[in-house]
Amino acid sequence: MNRRHFCRTAVAASVAAAIPMLPGCERKAPVATDADTSLAAVSLNGAEIELEKAAIRELGDSLTGPVILSGHPDYDSARKLWNGMHDRRPTLIARCMSTADVSKVVTFARERQILTAVRGGGHSWPGKSMCDDGLVIDLSQMHTVTADAGKRRAYARGGALLSGLDAAALEHELVTTAGVVSHTGVGGFTLGGGLGRLNRKYGLAIDNLRSAEIVTADGMARRVSDEQDADIFWAIRGGGGNFGVVTEFEYELHPFDRNVFSGSLVWPVAQARDVLEFYGEWYPGLSDEMYAGPAMVTLPDGTGAVVLEVVFNGDPALGEAELEPLRKIGTLMDDSVKIQDYSVMQTQEDVAFGPGIRSYVKSGMVSEISQGLVDAMIESYTSDPRLAMFTHTLGGAVKRVGELDTAFPHRNAEMMIGVGGGWHDPLDDESGIALSRQWYSGLEPFIGGYYDNIDFDGTAAKGNYGPAYARLSKIKGQVDPGNLFRLNSNVEPA
Ligand SMILES: Cc1cc2nc3c(=O)[nH]c(=O)nc-3n(C[C@H](O)[C@H](O)[C@H](O)COP(=O)(O)OP(=O)(O)OC[C@H]3O[C@@H](n4cnc5c(N)ncnc54)[C@H](O)[C@@H]3O)c2cc1C
Repeated sequence: MNRRHFCRTAVAASVAAAIPMLPGCERKAPVATDADTSLAAVSLNGAEIELEKAAIRELGDSLTGPVILSGHPDYDSARKLWNGMHDRRPTLIARCMSTADVSKVVTFARERQILTAVRGGGHSWPGKSMCDDGLVIDLSQMHTVTADAGKRRAYARGGALLSGLDAAALEHELVTTAGVVSHTGVGGFTLGGGLGRLNRKYGLAIDNLRSAEIVTADGMARRVSDEQDADIFWAIRGGGGNFGVVTEFEYELHPFDRNVFSGSLVWPVAQARDVLEFYGEWYPGLSDEMYAGPAMVTLPDGTGAVVLEVVFNGDPALGEAELEPLRKIGTLMDDSVKIQDYSVMQTQEDVAFGPGIRSYVKSGMVSEISQGLVDAMIESYTSDPRLAMFTHTLGGAVKRVGELDTAFPHRNAEMMIGVGGGWHDPLDDESGIALSRQWYSGLEPFIGGYYDNIDFDGTAAKGNYGPAYARLSKIKGQVDPGNLFRLNSNVEPA
């Protein structure tokens, strides 16, 4: 079976030119005309406010990048997010090119109390990086990643994508933990924790973060690390975008042979019980090098399948030996596990999850692959080619970090389980969402925490942060008492 085919089914002008014209727009706020001296926007608490055109012009003149308003040729592309379900119309989008730009825009937003979103890679499932009638700090052009092979470090700007992080590191036979779809932004990914195929060996993305440059609500740019502003550094490792705009992430890199033993094992869903029960027994003995997460999908011809995605980060012969008992379970429909370039796995879902797809997902953490969970996986399985149940394998190095050493407290979780999917027709939204929720509800009794990065409803903020919430709230109260950065998995300032 063609792996790509399977995957597709698996889930599926500058401000100076723009401002003087101030063209009309279709958003909810009153339409601006050339005669108006201000633009309507919303405040942090939802009240309607007026933004002086002269002030916007002044902001635009002070930035290296453009301020994009409705009617600007780039307005529609700039407000698009990865998830096609979101169609938001901000009053202004400040496309930042530098940390200094970000500082100026943060100050502008705070002084006027404008509802503010921060856009990194734009992959937020609930669309939190875009807003209606507010201001967007757009980092998409701050996307370079450089690597220092001698120091084994990568430096990613706040709007970089995982593809850039992987490429910069791999060029030097180095790597760090990145997620499974390469057009995801490093920003939201890292700030939420960052699960990836190498996390059992190297830990989460946050476990590899050595420092960051962040612009806090006061407009100040600071370098935070274990040595400097350690509270903020602790908070951004799992606490999301609550504490400011990160303009640069510094990651530790690890020596890496990019020819990895990797691919997928696929069985008919009728064999799910044999596969998942064996997996439950096999899993506790996994080496740190082995990442192997089960998924349940429906192929285009309607065949249900259980898939095990494998990446072995070590000697392929050892990987072969470790995987062998699983290969002997039941009758495989497909076995594509072989030595191949790491980037094949890291990009194989890019097309299936391409920008503009309409997508819904829910996820949670499980600390044990129990018989009850296996039963629930089998009983809740829903045959629908738009949907899938998928997992991220944790444990290993992830588990060896203390529960409150970072703001990501799910260190005892063995696995993240997600249910969701993607489609293109808006008419599919209702049934796609309802079926995903129903499927997930079958697994929910086994969930012991939430990973808000992979959750459309974003209703799990406190559960997401668990015992880290109290300290997060205290730090939030110190660095963002007015909750300027609220369009995220929000922590209320203490
Ligand atoms: C197809 C797909 C695959 C995914 N795979 C994985 C995976 O393998 N592992 C995993 O852990 N997660 C995964 N995720 C979840 C992903 O980590 C989150 O969606 C994450 O928020 C995306 O970050 P972003 O910068 O692209 O998003 P954005 O939409 O730009 O931002 C998301 C949130 O982070 C904030 N933010 C972004 N950048 C910054 C910044 N520089 N400074 C301050 N705040 C910022 C935004 O304000 C917003 O609240 C995946 C998501 C998708 C859609």
